[in-house]
Amino acid sequence: MVKCRDVMEVMERMAPKRLAEAWDNPGLLVGSPEDEVRRIFVCLDVREQMVERAQREGFQMIVAHHPVIFRGLKKLRTDLPDGRLLGALLRANIAVFAAHTNLDCAEGGVNDVLAARIGLVPETVAPLGAETLSESLGRVGKLSRSMDAREFALQVKKRLGAATVRFVSGGNHPVEKIGLCSGSGAEFIERAAFLGCDAFVTGDVRYHDAQRAAALGIHVIDAGHFATEQPVVEIVAMRLTEEFSGKVEIVADDTARDFFETVSEA
Ligand SMILES: [Zn+2]
Repeated sequence: MVKCRDVMEVMERMAPKRLAEAWDNPGLLVGSPEDEVRRIFVCLDVREQMVERAQREGFQMIVAHHPVIFRGLKKLRTDLPDGRLLGALLRANIAVFAAHTNLDCAEGGVNDVLAARIGLVPETVAPLGAETLSESLGRVGKLSRSMDAREFALQVKKRLGAATVRFVSGGNHPVEKIGLCSGSGAEFIERAAFLGCDAFVTGDVRYHDAQRAAALGIHVIDAGHFATEQPVVEIVAMRLTEEFSGKVEIVADDTARDFFETVSEA
């Protein structure tokens, strides 16, 4: 019989908790390590409609990237979204585990999956952070050939299956050396520019981030928080399947969509 604690151990090897940022809240957030697990659902976010699906399809555990409890919890009001979700999870007896910034940093985690997906040559990929840290947020790496910056932006859009990407021009230069950070990584634009990156790929870029990038002469491709992180879901599911083959059934969420839509005239 596989228990929650067995899944926690495998996840700890995949994304060691020590790699998480100090403000983060990874780990088992709902349920008990002693809970029995026969089916696991892997996803980016725990959304309310998933509880219903989990009950219908017999999942005892959800492994998510974003922590379902993040800020300090001072009440469990079921008339408000957070309490309603947690209440539903408890009533349905569904355990929830999160691997967040620890999965971002981990080797083979969110950033490495993103780097591979957008076409960086694996042998060239290194952490974007301090050189002494082998595992940190963000990556830097090279494309197999130099290309036009907008052509690369389109490559990112296509390979991530994003509805749209936003492009900030850093000048007329082509791109070969690329910095990236999955999710919200605009804080690393300076670092990427300092390391000589031609372009930086991330999500959640704001107006003044774009202004800074343009001034630094680095192109920025904002492919969205969702699209830069969603690819890790099937990789985590695959690795759990390898670990628990025959004992636990793992299902990767393939129905989640970005909260943002692009509205344009037909
Ligand atoms: Zn995220």
